[in-house]
Amino acid sequence: MNASRSSIYLDYNATAPLRPEAREALLRALESPANPSSVHAAGRAARDVVERARAQVGAVVGVPAGSVTFVSGGTEANALAIESARAAGVERIIISTIEHDAVTETAKAQNTQSGGLPVEILPVDNNGVADLDWLAQALEKPGKTLVCLMLANNETGVIQPVDKVSALVRAHDGWLHVDAVQAAGKIAIDFSALGADTMALSAHKLGGPQGVGALVAGTRATVTRRLHGGGQERGRRAGTENVAGIAAFGAAAVAAQEGLASLAEQAQWRDALAQRVKAQGAVVLGEGADRLPQTLCLAGEGFGSEVQVMNMDLAGIMVSAGSACCSGKVKASRVVEAMGRADLAPFALRISGGWASTEDDWIKCGDAWLAAWKRIGARRREVA
Ligand code: PLP
Repeated sequence: MNASRSSIYLDYNATAPLRPEAREALLRALESPANPSSVHAAGRAARDVVERARAQVGAVVGVPAGSVTFVSGGTEANALAIESARAAGVERIIISTIEHDAVTETAKAQNTQSGGLPVEILPVDNNGVADLDWLAQALEKPGKTLVCLMLANNETGVIQPVDKVSALVRAHDGWLHVDAVQAAGKIAIDFSALGADTMALSAHKLGGPQGVGALVAGTRATVTRRLHGGGQERGRRAGTENVAGIAAFGAAAVAAQEGLASLAEQAQWRDALAQRVKAQGAVVLGEGADRLPQTLCLAGEGFGSEVQVMNMDLAGIMVSAGSACCSGKVKASRVVEAMGRADLAPFALRISGGWASTEDDWIKCGDAWLAAWKRIGARRREVA
């Protein structure tokens, strides 16, 4: 990545640094600009770039190119899925309590619009895993249901039992939407095996640029026309395609797929850090569940998230509080609250590595956190 070598970036779940392959594809596309709808040679070349990227992005989740609709990012992909399900006649929505705001707020908007759909909240257990018994019962109620369950949580990295949920949803003729924005490019994903109807992806979480994403739709799902205009993306999403962004998304998707095995090994570095901080009294959230290999959510009681982020920043380490709103203000983590640890929610910190992270990054991150934790402890003892 491009940040100075003296600083360490462990905030990949916010945005992954642009991969060199993506940068190259981005610049190449920018240097030969053309509208993919133009019939001349340059237009046809741009169309080829878009279609190649469509196949590359589809391959990340094991679907053919035709299942992929390019959009402006994960937020739009989630919105397009939810609005498509509504257009297909779903009568209520169930979302897990740990969904990203992109899903939560879009579902709420469906509720407040005229003829609003009821929205119910699927709880999670202490490890942050969706409660399947609750869902099975909720699905017994009449009415076609849209269920939204993310594949991996952005704060804890906890991976959800999507295949089990899809069996339940299918048995009730519902629609399952999976936000795979954080999981894609970090773990292997097979869209068909998961049994999803729609799936949201975002380029900048896997080493592509910001502002480009994709909605994957299976054969049971009809994607609604959300933006009207020039008929691009087979009429589903009008507007001249972001050719350079899409090309870079495709290149990043290929590189991420090739890097899955080496990313999986990063779990050792993550777990080594976890052991060190736990030995000094920190708690690791979601530790009992399957997690993304490069995500660690920890909490040190009394060590506020914002103070941790600032202390780490001063030490040259870039990490995140569990949740940050767009103003940069840190709120108590609602994901940690949902896991039954409201006591720890104000103290959550997310450390997330990725394709360019090294073992040394994780070690130095641990050193910096432990040094700050010691200082805070000493200050608290002085005050007491
Ligand atoms: N879904 C999840 C789980 C996310 O973590 C994010 C981004 O943080 C989004 C959706 C939104 O994606 P984008 O920033 O591409 O709109």
